[in-house]
Amino acid sequence: MMSGFMEYQMFIDGQWTPGLTGDKMEVINPATREVVATVPRGGREDVDRALASARASFESGIWANKSVEERAQVLMNAAMLVVANKERLAYLESLTSGGTIRRTTTVDIAEVAGTLLLTAMILKELPQVEHTFFSPPWVAPMHTFWKREPVGVCAGITPWNFPLILAMYKIAPALAMGNSIVMKPASITPVTTLELAKILTDAGVPPGVINVITGPGSSMGNYLAGHPEVDKIAFTGSTEVGRQIAHQAADTIKRVTLELGGKSPIIVLDDADMEVAANMCLLGFLFHSGQVCESGTRLFVPRRLQDELVERMISKIKKMVIGDQLDMETDLGPIASQEQLNTIDRYVHIGKEEGAQLAYGGRQLTEGIYEKGFFYEPTIFINCHNQMTQVREEIFGPVQCVIPYDDVEEAVAMANDSIYGLGGGICSTNISRAQKLANRLRTGTVWINTWHVLRPDAPFGGYKQSGYGRECCYHSLLAYSEVKHICLDLTPDGDDKLMNLLIGSNR
Ligand code: NAP
Ligand code: MG
Repeated sequence: MMSGFMEYQMFIDGQWTPGLTGDKMEVINPATREVVATVPRGGREDVDRALASARASFESGIWANKSVEERAQVLMNAAMLVVANKERLAYLESLTSGGTIRRTTTVDIAEVAGTLLLTAMILKELPQVEHTFFSPPWVAPMHTFWKREPVGVCAGITPWNFPLILAMYKIAPALAMGNSIVMKPASITPVTTLELAKILTDAGVPPGVINVITGPGSSMGNYLAGHPEVDKIAFTGSTEVGRQIAHQAADTIKRVTLELGGKSPIIVLDDADMEVAANMCLLGFLFHSGQVCESGTRLFVPRRLQDELVERMISKIKKMVIGDQLDMETDLGPIASQEQLNTIDRYVHIGKEEGAQLAYGGRQLTEGIYEKGFFYEPTIFINCHNQMTQVREEIFGPVQCVIPYDDVEEAVAMANDSIYGLGGGICSTNISRAQKLANRLRTGTVWINTWHVLRPDAPFGGYKQSGYGRECCYHSLLAYSEVKHICLDLTPDGDDKLMNLLIGSNR
């Protein structure tokens, strides 16, 4: 489709802009390690420049003062442009992140365009001004109302697993509410976020309102997250970095949304349809080769059903196509980086050392078509218990830990015994039983007989150390706005009841 090497610049103030140092970072295809693009390796001066552009655009009112209808229209234009550029965006997303092209051309594009459209629709429905009718006897007649205003300059920092979707979860609500934003994508997958900025600009977002800078998180991201010019920060990534960002944000009381790690529990009940359970559990841990924050990676199954469920899962895994993410037939693509591959392998070794039994997989794929890329075999540990390291910590790879249980109360207690609380799920043919258990899981989302369904019209986020705040639906619009109460005395005069009461101004 498209090939050849691409040299990107940053996107600042509506223009492609070279980095100030001239240094570059290489972007590779994780299936082949081939360098497919370069982006500038930005530094502090680039952050300052992007924030200055965002601040100037915000203060000018060029976007913030547009009507709701005008902003909604630009978001809808952008949705159409995303669809028109579907092939290119999906190709670049797959090429650099390793996501399968079958998924990126369908799910990812629909989610990105859908988020823009839904956000525009919700924006138009959201009450812009609200009133109260209550008036206590000691105040003169007043008109009391409140309105939504943008927070100001926002910063979005995103990881490498779903670069387009996770960027849009931040950009769409920020723009809807009239903010300006600076995005810092992950260093290994910056390309599609840069492309999005250009598309949004072509759709009518004024210069400076959307900026994308590229560079290392540890230096540039860290400087951005602590910058006094940032009014709100939205971060998706590891709990470790999220915690650091929350600390930094405290100094200038930034608004913060954090979408962090997970170790989501699946509880299969004894009445489950085993075919549904096998599919749900495979989707839970193998979607995007397990590199998903809400992956279902602690599988609680009735002890007597463990073997049957695992056998079904293994026979399905054997038929899956693992390989080139750009091939429409591929089910599971590569791991995104050497670093992530090492992390997965390290946890698999820890699992073996701690006595978990390997039922399938457990190694890097290195031969033939796998020789140059970062591929890992789907891996299932059985007879785990909830205290093992590989069961407690986020692995972010295709590794399932099966924990047999004898009593469903015990399963619920173990499911909730985690620092994380992002996703959770129940597999059962008894919907009312599943619903009752769903109420008891301390997680931001519970799936019943399915997994990974995120929607632009439903809130997504975590309990506990999986983060705070919600992305998507009207919750995200609220998170990108301030509320201003305006209180107007309709009949001001020198003999004011309230002032007389409170300070004796009539003496
Ligand atoms: P990460 O370090 O949290 O990186 C996420 C984003 O934050 C990237 O854009 C990164 O930039 C940036 N960043 C890194 N350090 C920063 C800092 N000190 N201040 C501000 N920004 C910073 O995640 P990772 O290293 O890519 O992956 C590590 C683990 O995090 C994974 O194994 C997985 O467990 C978890 N993870 C979770 C999610 C999720 O969706 N919740 C996504 C990815 C990873 P650079 O790319 O330049 O480092
Ligand atoms: Mg990191």
